[in-house]
Amino acid sequence: MIVGEFVKKAKKGKAGLEDFYVKLFKDLKRINQEYDCFITLCEEEALKQLENLPKGRLYGVPVSVKDALCTKGVQTTGGSKILKDYKPTFDATVIKRIKDEGGVIIGKTCMDEFGLGGFSTNCAYKVPKNPCDKNRVTGGSSGGAAVVTRALDAPHIAIAESTGGSISSPASFCGVHGLTPTYGRVSRHGLLDYANSLDKIGVMAKSISDIALMMNVISGFDERDMTSRKEKVPDYTMTKSVKGMKLGVPKEYFGKGVAKEVSDLVWKGIKKLESKGVKVREVSLDMTKYSLPSYYIAAMSEVSTNLAKFCGMRYGLELPLKKEGFNEYFSRVRSVGFGSEAKRRIILGTYARMSGYRSKYYLKAMKVRTLVINDFKKAFKRVDALAAPTMPVIAPRFEEVEELSPLEAYKMDLLTVGPNLAGVPHLSTPCGELRGMPVGMHLIANHLEEKKVISLGGAFNE
Ligand code: GLN
Repeated sequence: MIVGEFVKKAKKGKAGLEDFYVKLFKDLKRINQEYDCFITLCEEEALKQLENLPKGRLYGVPVSVKDALCTKGVQTTGGSKILKDYKPTFDATVIKRIKDEGGVIIGKTCMDEFGLGGFSTNCAYKVPKNPCDKNRVTGGSSGGAAVVTRALDAPHIAIAESTGGSISSPASFCGVHGLTPTYGRVSRHGLLDYANSLDKIGVMAKSISDIALMMNVISGFDERDMTSRKEKVPDYTMTKSVKGMKLGVPKEYFGKGVAKEVSDLVWKGIKKLESKGVKVREVSLDMTKYSLPSYYIAAMSEVSTNLAKFCGMRYGLELPLKKEGFNEYFSRVRSVGFGSEAKRRIILGTYARMSGYRSKYYLKAMKVRTLVINDFKKAFKRVDALAAPTMPVIAPRFEEVEELSPLEAYKMDLLTVGPNLAGVPHLSTPCGELRGMPVGMHLIANHLEEKKVISLGGAFNE
């Protein structure tokens, strides 16, 4: 059942919410045992929420939340040991908006530590497994969110986050829809930062209309986030006809590094859209080959400063004090609290910002980022939206990921970092299967035009 229908039923008192939630938590525990998708389940808190639920647009809807968003009184770890037992004293703006509309927070989902990864294998707690094949990864970093969305039959919407592809990658690998909004469309207040100039909170769901409904609730200006956009929020559930819409196919997104079978399936998807009256033409995004280095330098530079605040004094992990100075204490906490990928990125990011290297790496990456943005702007002068594969391959097996060097792992983000660097909205929607594993198609639009990708995704899935 789509969420909108469930809300109508619940408002009429016909959803039997108390019983529904008892059964729901049984299902969630079973799914969690099978696929390891939650760091924390919020059964008690959810039942408490039911006692006094606002009859809003999400009345009674189960919502899972990536563990990167602060939830009042509920452990929020960012997928890291260094924040074990950290219970925020406030709700992130997105969480507050959901609760005010009657949405029920059911749990906090597994993720790569602080979002640093593309497979959900850099996890301090549990490594989630792909519901389509337990021997394969879920994609990341919002892996847990995609698992719950795929494996749970009951109505549900997931809140996830993307810096460089963390919504699209797991959506594609697990076969669900995932929308990453325009940078600034959704408030980041209460999100544990990875890279502030890139982080975006978004949505995963089993249907496009569920995504639109949630976007109506969470979008819009927030005075607590100075980067949040002031533009009016349209009704995302009122989709537009796609007839006559111009769809660009960027040739660089079908080139080297992208499996031919994946490209073929995405082309089939594009043909389906063409049969619905969409006009297809080839376009070029010349800067594509520079987006990976630009993204990783920017993201690592930002994360290396953001993680400095986790030192065992203000938040999370504390160790018994020895006779030592602050620096020794901080080093000990950070040595045991951070995983190896976080440490790698702190070192690389600090290096890229150091005097003497700053202009060579960080500032250069910023300049290249501007070129990538201009590339997208140029394309959107000719077309309404772009279509491309989301990921270059299907979900790899765990042992295949283990064999990858860090650089090889970063390369998997080839097709997702561009739209994230540009801050443009993008939707990954399932477009077929290869050997039983889902393949995602990316639909990308210009800033604040999420309605176009929602409309295209809706028409494609009709
Ligand atoms: N895989 C990318 C990275 O490791 C993106 C992660 C994300 O979007 N949080 O940076």
